Parts: sequence; structure tokens; C-alpha cells
Amino acid sequence: MMTSDVVIVGAGPYGLSVARHLRTVKGLEVRVFGEPMSFWNQNMPAGMFLRSNWTATQIADPDGRLTLEAFQAATGRRFSLPVPLDDFVQYGLWYQSQAVPDVERRIVMRVETDSAGFRVHFADGEALATRRVIVAAGIASFARRPAEFEGLPSELATHSSVHRDFTKFAGKKVLVIGGGQSALESGALLHEAGAEVEVVTRAPHINWLQGFVSKALHHRMGKFVRHLLYAPTDVGPAGISQVLARPRFVRGLPRTLQDKLRKRATRPAGARWLVARLKDVPLRLKCSVASVSVVGEKLQVHLSNGSVCVVDHVLLGTGYKIDVSKYSFLGPELLGAIRRSNGFPILKEGLETSVPRLHIVGAPAAWSFGPLMQFVSGSRYVSRALCRSVSGREPIAPRAQ
Ligand SMILES: Cc1cc2nc3c(=O)[nH]c(=O)nc-3n(C[C@H](O)[C@H](O)[C@H](O)COP(=O)(O)OP(=O)(O)OC[C@H]3O[C@@H](n4cnc5c(N)ncnc54)[C@H](O)[C@@H]3O)c2cc1C
Repeated sequence: MMTSDVVIVGAGPYGLSVARHLRTVKGLEVRVFGEPMSFWNQNMPAGMFLRSNWTATQIADPDGRLTLEAFQAATGRRFSLPVPLDDFVQYGLWYQSQAVPDVERRIVMRVETDSAGFRVHFADGEALATRRVIVAAGIASFARRPAEFEGLPSELATHSSVHRDFTKFAGKKVLVIGGGQSALESGALLHEAGAEVEVVTRAPHINWLQGFVSKALHHRMGKFVRHLLYAPTDVGPAGISQVLARPRFVRGLPRTLQDKLRKRATRPAGARWLVARLKDVPLRLKCSVASVSVVGEKLQVHLSNGSVCVVDHVLLGTGYKIDVSKYSFLGPELLGAIRRSNGFPILKEGLETSVPRLHIVGAPAAWSFGPLMQFVSGSRYVSRALCRSVSGREPIAPRAQ
């Protein structure tokens, strides 16, 4: 049987960054499994832009060499804010080629405990023994489909995460459900692809991030005040942003306050640059789906305000609900041993679960370390914390090649 000191499940921003940092620990064998950047490459729509700012879009590395600027210099690609999805995917793949060129493109089917630590199983029947497992498998397994849409065929209703290309909806009537960035940007992209779109949200209004008023205010604030109120991690509103940038501090706050901060920082909101692109897309506020029925090849959607829409397709921009029991590679025995709260694992320092040497990073860590964990900019804290947990010291910058 193959062996390894550490196995990382997942090769997105977190898996890659953690691998890069752990490989600075002398003598530690770290193996990474997964398709690099696959969530960004396959589960987000072409033409999308990132919502996070420039500093928050950097995947952490110990010596700060693998930056967006270095990527631009190395490849000649030019882009600015908001960062286009395709450029971010290429940046992630470049980071991987520089930092973790030996990622193994295999799917982990099962992780189970054994006497030496863990046994990791792959689809082809091969297995690997390892002392430590770091789960960096992202949120793809957590797509939220409201009960009304369960069981409907994918021709009629899909979650936003299954689409890469919206041009297939040209000329079709599409109802988008949701009032967050994903729903709103999907609405704009569908409209631009030639679909007849309407967006329905329960919310009484859309939260536009950095609206025109606050942008003017930001401008007048000056750099110093802005830096005082907003951390480079770019998660949360003024002031709160600085708190959330410090996961260790967040951890020590009373539970109710932690929950409030997480809710506030991740409430549904749209980026300001979507306003103009949505001007010709009807938005129905304070409205939810009461029931749906299939009529021929269409879907009849009854809304809570009494109106009925007959559409070719419903796109669920309904986000993600963390529930680690949906990671199918965690067997029932292992899952049963992981202490959880409302689907989130309860993590110790070093992002370790209640199963010794089993760590979970990325969005599922948000209950224990705050909403920073749901964004790329949390990769710096997480990678350093894991280095300390595994080796007892800070990561050392690798020598330039
Ligand atoms: C529409 C949308 C827009 C977003 N915009 C932003 C943004 O602007 N800024 C931001 O910071 N965040 C944004 N996010 C959040 C973003 O998803 C996370 O920040 C980021 O993906 C976290 O990285 P990750 O490595 O945890 O997960 P992922 O990027 O999802 O990577 C997980 C990896 O694990 C692999 N994997 C999963 N299961 C297995 C398995 N069994 N075996 C092997 N490999 C496996 C996958 O193939 C994938 O490569 C956005 C999310 C969505 C849905």
C-alpha cells in the first residue's frame, strides 16, 4: 500500500495554499488529490467576475511570490478589478504549476480510520495509508435546492452551480430565484445571453455592496481611514471587516455574537457593478415560491404574491448550506466521530476536528473561525495555522528556484 504523512483532499485555493505551506516543513511528505481549480472552472458561469477585491483574491503563499502581479508578469495577461473569472482560474492553475506541480488528479472515494491513522480509497480500488488528512473539498456538495424543486427534471430547474455556459438559454424564459451575488449575476449573464429573465427574491430590497453613496463616502474618507475600517481580507462591512480578519479573536467571542457576525458578513448582496447590467431585468422583491407544477414542457410557478409565471426554466441562485455529512467520502463511522453544530464541524486550533489529525478547511470552518473561511483571503490564516499545528512552527519561505 502507498503511504504518506499528509493527504490533502481537494486542489482549489485552500488545498493548494495549504500544500504549498506544509511543503516548507522539512521531511514531511504531502500529497494532494483533486482536479485543480475545478469548482471555479466548471461550476461558475463564463463571463462572471469575482466580487472580492485585489488583495483578497491572492492565494496565500509563504513568501508572497505567487501573487496576481507575478502571474501577470509571468504570463503577459492583463486584467484589473473586478477580476474576471477566467483570469482567476488561470491564476489558480499557474499557482498550482509553480507550487504543487505534482497534484494527483484523482477523486477520493472514501476516508476511514485505521490503526496508523487513516486509509484513503480511490475509485480504481487503490488505497493509501496516511497519518493526517486535510479536507479542502469546497462547497460544491452543499448546493441548496428548495424543497419545491426537488425531483424536477434538470431541463426545467437547476442550481446555478451546474452551469458554465448560459447561451443555451437564448430565447427562453428563465426565472431566477435568489437575491445574492450568484442569482443577480446569473440574471445579468442570462439577459446578456438573450434569455427573457426575471429575478424573484424574498428580500424587501437588494443589498448593493459599496453602493454609489458609500463609494463616494469611501472616496472622501481617504486611504488612512479606509485602511483603518477595512482589512485587506475584504470580508464584512466597515469596522467588522477588521474583526473578521482575525479568526483567533473571532473564536473567543460569545457564540451569539459570532453567529451574528457571520450572518452579517455573508448576507445576500450584489456588487455595485451589476446595477447597470440589471436595469432591463425585472426584479420581484418580497416574493417567494409557493408551489410549482409541470405543464407540458414548461414550469408553472405560483408566487407568494398570488402571481403565476410560466417559464422554460427556473435557475436556483439559492446558495449553499454547509453540511459536512454531504461529503460522500466521509464514511458514517468517521462522520459520527466528528463533533458538529448545524452541519458545521466544531474545530480546534489548527482546524482539527474532534477526530485527531483530521482537519477541515474552507467554508465548513466558518462556524469555528468566522466567515473569512468562506473566501480565498482566509487561505493565509488557515495555511499558517495548519503549519503551526503540524510542525509546531511558522512556515519558512521556500528558497527561490
Ligand atoms: C458564484 C460564486 C462566486 C464566488 N466568488 C468569490 C469571490 O469573488 N471571492 C472569494 O474569495 N470567494 C468567492 N466564492 C467562494 C469560493 O467558492 C471560495 O472562496 C473558494 O472556492 C474556496 O476554495 P476551496 O479550496 O475551499 O474550495 P474549491 O475551490 O471548491 O475547491 C475544492 C476542490 O476540492 C476538490 N474535491 C472535492 N471533492 C473531492 C474528492 N472527493 N476527491 C478529490 N478532490 C475533491 C474539487 O475538485 C476542487 O478542486 C464564490 C463562490 C461562488 C459559488
